[in-house]
Amino acid sequence: MVESPLVKTLLTTSAPEAAEFLRRGELVAFPTETVYGLGANAFDAAAVERIFVAKSRPADNPLIVHVASIGEVARVTREITPLADRLIGAFFPGPLTIVLPRSADVPDIVTGGLETVAVRMPRHLVALELLGAAGFPLCAPSANRSGRPSPTTWSAVIDDLGGRIACVLQGKATEIGLESTVVDARGDEAVILREGGLPAEEIARVARVRFPAAGEEAPASPGTRYRHYAPSAQVRRVVNPEEVRASRDAAFIGFHHPKGAAEFARCRVVADAAEMARELFAFFRECDANAVRTIYAELPAEEGIGRAIRDRLERAERR
Ligand code: AMP
Ligand code: MG
Repeated sequence: MVESPLVKTLLTTSAPEAAEFLRRGELVAFPTETVYGLGANAFDAAAVERIFVAKSRPADNPLIVHVASIGEVARVTREITPLADRLIGAFFPGPLTIVLPRSADVPDIVTGGLETVAVRMPRHLVALELLGAAGFPLCAPSANRSGRPSPTTWSAVIDDLGGRIACVLQGKATEIGLESTVVDARGDEAVILREGGLPAEEIARVARVRFPAAGEEAPASPGTRYRHYAPSAQVRRVVNPEEVRASRDAAFIGFHHPKGAAEFARCRVVADAAEMARELFAFFRECDANAVRTIYAELPAEEGIGRAIRDRLERAERR
């Protein structure tokens, strides 16, 4: 893998200024409602290559293409299935990514050589302003170094990618805090390749939903093969916070006060799963910055956004 050259990273709140970098084939990190993305012109293979270098991302992990409008989905796909049409009608713009047959205009590097492309229209106003100012779709994975938790603040982007990318378009902390839900929409059932910001229950209101069979997921969505979303500390999933042993090099995040809360290096009690989703990745990063060795995370119920949280915790615990 080529090492990233050192560059000056400009911080700005101006979408038109950030779009100038994109036009020159440079990388711009920007806020979306899920997490911060690292954008490049999706039609410029050399610009997209820079994403893989800056993130140290494996080349076979394809990128999500972000579009400014529903009409633009047709610019990057070959066919919009009736199912896709329904999902777009119900959930675009928003935290849903759909996988469809790709158009010939999308470079191979975007899709990791797959015949499909993943597309999303974010609803975050700053993201839409940037897409509008650029005038072309942006491929944008999460703006973190590969393997690290996704960034939910612009300062987390700087921690990972400062000096490696041209520009960070600043916004507030992200609203959802977890990545988009990825759905294969080529057939007549919505196949959930990755759980995320849009709960499966919501999708089930407009379409038949199924989860991939064992062995089907990895080839269909290569990114799910990799270790992901993980802090340096060891994550341990917890069902009963009463059973956790507090210590100075451990941290806790969950819905109930653990015993000896004050003895943890960090302790965060959240009100509900939405708040845990919003806080989780920033909490992971805060723990790493404070030499925490073990992070105990109480599992949310297996419903709504809780399902995506459980998925991320499971992946983070795996070593
Ligand atoms: P990230 O951009 O880091 O949030 O990861 C993007 C996710 O979308 C990964 O899990 C990819 O495997 C998935 N993805 C992107 N493009 C495709 C595609 N063409 N087919 C299936 N999954 C995809
Ligand atoms: Mg990512």
